[in-house]
Amino acid sequence: MTAIVRLAGVTKRYRRGREVVTAVDDVSLELPPGSMIALVGPSGSGKTTLLNLICGGDEADDGTIAGPHDTADWSQLAIVPQTIGLLPELTMRENVGLPIRLGAPAATDVGEVMERLGIGLLADRPPEETSLGEQQRAAVARALVTAPGLLIADEPTSHQDEANTDRVGEALADVAASGSCVLVATHDGRLLDRCTMVFHMRDGVVTGAGDGVGVDAT
Ligand code: ADP
Ligand code: MG
Repeated sequence: MTAIVRLAGVTKRYRRGREVVTAVDDVSLELPPGSMIALVGPSGSGKTTLLNLICGGDEADDGTIAGPHDTADWSQLAIVPQTIGLLPELTMRENVGLPIRLGAPAATDVGEVMERLGIGLLADRPPEETSLGEQQRAAVARALVTAPGLLIADEPTSHQDEANTDRVGEALADVAASGSCVLVATHDGRLLDRCTMVFHMRDGVVTGAGDGVGVDAT
């Protein structure tokens, strides 16, 4: 099956004065459609940097990345950033519907996806009048209103309790089951249980993929 994303020898270095940090070190990966893939690794191991490279938010120093970010077809890529990234001047509903307003084809009803993530009653509030967990679920909902070929989520349950982690996990797993590739950086065992493939990351190096058995979620 044709991969949705293909990385070959991807390296990213950060320079801090004289110090050079290799945040992503010679990573080669292929991400297939119809999969929910976990990226697991300690804090500082390079997960967010790698996700930023894959979604085109940052440029690699070496190597190549083929994927939706270089087609300029933004309906094919959805992102749930670690920093959530709602626009404060829009209501929760307007934030969730923003990809559609920007021209991406709607795959599902905005109200429906908000209900599903337990934020239906908050639709008319500005984000600042909601909890961080609710804002994070709105960011997940915003990624679900289109049918992206690739959905990238950076620790999307970091502010969720168990019931809401299950809501987020089920929604992401459904997107994968419908044929998308879902790539999720996470430490969360409840989310990992739903992943079909697990990559481990340490010091910028991706050490391998498995079927989720024996995952060390540290
Ligand atoms: P993770 O998401 O796994 O916690 P990150 O990708 O955020 O890891 O960070 C990987 C490494 O790169 C860390 O050592 C971090 O300090 C460093 N780093 C991340 N962003 C920057 C930046 N903008 N400038 C310098 N160093 C950075
Ligand atoms: Mg991170």
